[in-house]
Amino acid sequence: MSRPAISKLLSHAARRRCPCCGRGRLFDGFFSLKHRCETCDYDFDASEGSTWFFMYMTSGGVIGVCFLILFFWRPAREEMVFASSVMIGAAAVLLLGSLPWRKAVAIALDYWIEPRVRDKANE
Ligand SMILES: [Zn+2]
Repeated sequence: MSRPAISKLLSHAARRRCPCCGRGRLFDGFFSLKHRCETCDYDFDASEGSTWFFMYMTSGGVIGVCFLILFFWRPAREEMVFASSVMIGAAAVLLLGSLPWRKAVAIALDYWIEPRVRDKANE
């Protein structure tokens, strides 16, 4: 099986679509990852275990950016509670708001690294 183009897979991820067919939705609602693609029956659950490292690293990246902003912002001591509250809120919004796209990119990269065909043994 040939490896799909990464640009095509990232395009599917940006639209939160199945990396295999590009048509089926990855999520029910905003956060809930579907178990399988409704169009091609690709197993998303099988990819989820391979995405933890990407999710962990991108979460760390978001928190790191918040720490850098706080470092360069240099709020006064009396503004520290306010600044910390703003950064914690911004980090929460960024982490939760970007989660579906980060997960979609992680699943797309997993598919790019190891394109799986439908598992006939479990049917
Ligand atoms: Zn699909």
